[in-house]
Amino acid sequence: MGKKILVTGGTGLVGRGIEFAALSDKREDEEWIFLSSKDCNLTSMDETRKLFEMHKPTHVIHLAAMVGGLFSNLRQNAEFFRVNMLINDSVLNCCREFKVEKLVSCLSTCIFPDKTTYPIDETMVHNGPPHSSNFGYAYAKRMLDVQNHAYRQQYGCQFTSVIPTNIFGPHDNFNLEDSHVIPALIHKCYNAKRDGTAVTVFGSGTPLRQFIYSHDLGRLMVWTLREYTETEPIILSVGEEDEVSIKQVAEVVAKEMGVENLQFDTTKADGQFKKTANNAKLRQYLPDFQFTPFEQAMKESCAWFVENYEKARK
Ligand code: NAP
Ligand code: GDP
Repeated sequence: MGKKILVTGGTGLVGRGIEFAALSDKREDEEWIFLSSKDCNLTSMDETRKLFEMHKPTHVIHLAAMVGGLFSNLRQNAEFFRVNMLINDSVLNCCREFKVEKLVSCLSTCIFPDKTTYPIDETMVHNGPPHSSNFGYAYAKRMLDVQNHAYRQQYGCQFTSVIPTNIFGPHDNFNLEDSHVIPALIHKCYNAKRDGTAVTVFGSGTPLRQFIYSHDLGRLMVWTLREYTETEPIILSVGEEDEVSIKQVAEVVAKEMGVENLQFDTTKADGQFKKTANNAKLRQYLPDFQFTPFEQAMKESCAWFVENYEKARK
């Protein structure tokens, strides 16, 4: 029998990356359904149940979440915790009730302990408090791993999760209040070029991050759904050697957008200094996987924003 794959949060940055990957490697026995919040408010168990009743999925990729950058998290820790706990409870419970054969959910490297040794690996998710800036989001995401193990133990469910690093690409959220650093900088550079003004980068520019292009993450998540059978999470990241500073990122975006004047506002928060993740587990499974070079991915992302300025989330 074929697979009917429901993707919650299918209209967001990662969902569009998965759609791109699934279309590039089509399988006859797979039907993909990409959902937005307009199809169902997943904070409601009743609505979620109706959705599962209607689609009867055999497989689920669960992306839907309240998502935001550092400054959005700093303002709304209570909402990040509550909304994500509700969404995850509805989705995992319905996956059990409707006997979904496999569920892949999405964690993040920003949920790891703040005080830790580096590099971080999959065994360290629960080893101490997360960074104080996003503890609401981080604890709700950590509970997904707890739920995966509990559902496996009590009901034998095949539930697992992936841990991506910072993500960027087409269809990102470019809203300057809520967004992550790359979409924010692309949008700021667009405005600066239009208005002939300088670009303000928040913080010192020294924090370090690993970034994955949404199209690469899409390919890896499709692989996870098809091939990965562990309950334990798997980090989906570029290597440690590809970590870059925020200053370097700002320079790449500025170059691509044709902007020269960058200023750093050190009164704004830096967030976690680094969260360097080790992708050795991924490399054991997929030693030859090729990530898109950072500058190429940035070129495509900037071009997407310029070409789709009117319809982009901003
Ligand atoms: P995104 O672009 O903001 O997309 C969020 C998706 O979730 C959208 O499709 C949205 O629907 C849907 N959604 C939000 N609230 C919902 C609700 N109450 N009911 C139903 N659907 C709802 O986010 P993303 O960056 O693709 O994130 C996807 C996953 O990756 C999340 O689990 C996130 O935690 C994780 N992640 C993201 C990053 C990153 O850097 N972005 C890094 C690590 C992990 P609408 O389109 O209708 O609003
Ligand atoms: P994080 O990786 O969870 O901290 O999330 P972000 O992507 O929001 O931020 C990463 C880093 O970029 C932090 O050090 C921010 O201070 C820095 N940053 C610089 N300019 C901006 C901006 O305009 N928006 C955001 N969100 N972060 C910025």
